Amino acid sequence: MTDPVIRCVGITKTFGDFVAVHDVSFNVSPGEIVSILGSSGCGKTTVLRLIAGLEAPDAGQILIRGEVASTPQRQTPPDKRGIGMVVQEYALFPHMTVRQNISFGLNNLSDEEQTSRVEEVMSLVRLENLEDRYPHELSGGQQQRIALARTMAPRPFAVLLDEPFSNIDAGMRSEVRREVETILRANNTAAVLVTHDRDEAFAIADRVAIMSSGALEQVDAPEAVYHLPVNRRVAQMTGTCDFMNGTARTDGTVETEAGVLAYDTNSADIKPGSKVELVIHPDDFGVEANDSGAMVVESREFRGDETVLLVALPSGATIKCRQESYCAITPGQRLDLVLHRPGPFAAFSV
Ligand code: ATP
Repeated sequence: MTDPVIRCVGITKTFGDFVAVHDVSFNVSPGEIVSILGSSGCGKTTVLRLIAGLEAPDAGQILIRGEVASTPQRQTPPDKRGIGMVVQEYALFPHMTVRQNISFGLNNLSDEEQTSRVEEVMSLVRLENLEDRYPHELSGGQQQRIALARTMAPRPFAVLLDEPFSNIDAGMRSEVRREVETILRANNTAAVLVTHDRDEAFAIADRVAIMSSGALEQVDAPEAVYHLPVNRRVAQMTGTCDFMNGTARTDGTVETEAGVLAYDTNSADIKPGSKVELVIHPDDFGVEANDSGAMVVESREFRGDETVLLVALPSGATIKCRQESYCAITPGQRLDLVLHRPGPFAAFSV
């Protein structure tokens, strides 16, 4: 295991009586991309600002490359942390050219070194020949890449990205995101990326930190937070899901209306005989039309890329089942559920 480049240990930040960040702990390894995913106001930006040294914690500490950088008593200044930050509104200086914007943080280099580093980072972000333009002469995507070039110019070992793609047209967003990821990976630059966009977090991150009401709920690989959320909140934040009731048995399975299903025994403190709920995603079950089946299609939503059936179980509870766009099953059709999920289900005590 390599030592983390950023370590947050039990950090708490209050504004007056309001606890914006509560007891947050997570690490970022060299070259790792960690996304903080959470709804508006949950404290994501505050965590970034604490790591950057723009806020001081009220409790806990932050270590940067093994050195204590933030405690309630002592703060290493932001410019001494070796970490770059890209904010939502790019914050390029409007009266400066691209070259001047990028050179801004390189005043410890000679003029010659500055010129060569500007050329290097412009080619890194694939925007050669735009050095003499002003920010208003660039598209949103280009401005974003310039902001990243400026942040990368002093060769930070880690960057903090606050909603970096939110001002970019939806059509271009995934392309710019892929480019940013390529640049970070090529330079082995660690990153903490704040977003409220689940797809974005899943697409770019090695690990996703799920945050709600100032606290971290789960930090794990995208597949793990999706397939095996640790609680209802994480399940609802990471995907479309339903909850199916059942009774736990002794052998790591749950008796439900859809049959006996395995649950993840690692993530749940569940006793045999107790009532549980399983997290069901729309692709966990296929359907097979059967006029004497126990389930019935309550409604059907054609979405173009897919058709979502709302399937009623014998108790009247419903789950969503994703089908192909050409699925011809209509409401009222009785059917059987066919288990597609290869692994155990996440289960919570109720
Ligand atoms: P968003 O996605 O909307 O940017 P966020 O998750 O990044 O939200 P933060 O900006 O970290 O949220 O703010 C967390 C909470 O702390 C919010 O309720 C916010 O109003 C509050 N807050 C942030 N900064 C301050 C401040 N300087 N003074 C008082 N309250 C603050």
